[in-house]
Amino acid sequence: MSDSPLSLSRRNMLAGAALAGVASQLVEPVNAQTPPASPLQSPAFYRYTVGDLKLTAIHEGYNQVPIENFVKNASLDDVRKLAEEQFFPKDAVRITFTTTVVETGGKLVLIDTGIGDLGPATTGRWMANFKAAGFDPAKVDRVVISHFHGDHINGLRLKDGTAQFPNAEVWVGQQEWDFWSDDGRMNNAPEAMKGAFRNVRRVFDPISKNLKFFKPGDEVAPGIIAQAAFGHSPGHMIFAVTSGSNSLMLVSDITNHPGLFVRRPDWAVMYDMDAEMARLSRRRVLDQLASDKMQVAFYHAPFPATGHIWRDGDGFRLQPIQWS
Ligand SMILES: [Zn+2]
Repeated sequence: MSDSPLSLSRRNMLAGAALAGVASQLVEPVNAQTPPASPLQSPAFYRYTVGDLKLTAIHEGYNQVPIENFVKNASLDDVRKLAEEQFFPKDAVRITFTTTVVETGGKLVLIDTGIGDLGPATTGRWMANFKAAGFDPAKVDRVVISHFHGDHINGLRLKDGTAQFPNAEVWVGQQEWDFWSDDGRMNNAPEAMKGAFRNVRRVFDPISKNLKFFKPGDEVAPGIIAQAAFGHSPGHMIFAVTSGSNSLMLVSDITNHPGLFVRRPDWAVMYDMDAEMARLSRRRVLDQLASDKMQVAFYHAPFPATGHIWRDGDGFRLQPIQWS
């Protein structure tokens, strides 16, 4: 492939249009499937540790989307078969959203923010769950963003413009910023994708002078090192969390639902902006995690969205941690 990570080829534009269709659902959920009403769960947070570091998974809610067209490069029959095997809802995928809070070096650090008040009715639980876990949004020291899709950044700022973490430094990847902040690229993007560009401006313009930028290899907080895993978005980052001999990989959107894309790492979710680059990143990272037996935390795995990866045939499986 000759594309540089930052080029917007026609293929990327098409993928981007698909992405924007769904990204816009997260802003105005007009096309979201309406799942059957179900009672709210109890406040959902889950604490665990990596050496001396305290991690808390915070649940945001879920979005239910049709299974048709969810995977770009597999037949609907094959996707349905794997989904049915795992008792997914009929012809649908439930995408859950789980951010990670890390208490490290005396600082309160968030990795991604959830959807805020811009998602469907089945989301929007994040702040209540964060507070139920005993945290105060005014005391967040740093917010580190994996990539700029709406489900990861919209929690930074409510739709009326209110900043949710008024005292936090906001750290963003340089490559991701360079892509989305380019006005020429926005102007040339298909109409369907322009909403995603505009959303990035809505979230970041008020704080653009104060943003901190990081690159692969940078320590974004004590014990947390950013790594490149480009493809899902042009500057998509994952984060290695280390304390003493303990470590965990926060893999962001290296896969969407692991029941599909950990099992079939060559499948591309409709939101992957460069499907081939995302596939290569996914295989590389899952392979490393399986070899190292390293604990992993996903953004879109069933809550509490953490476990271990093991090899299974040509793919992998996620063994969830036991709630304890
Ligand atoms: Zn996502």
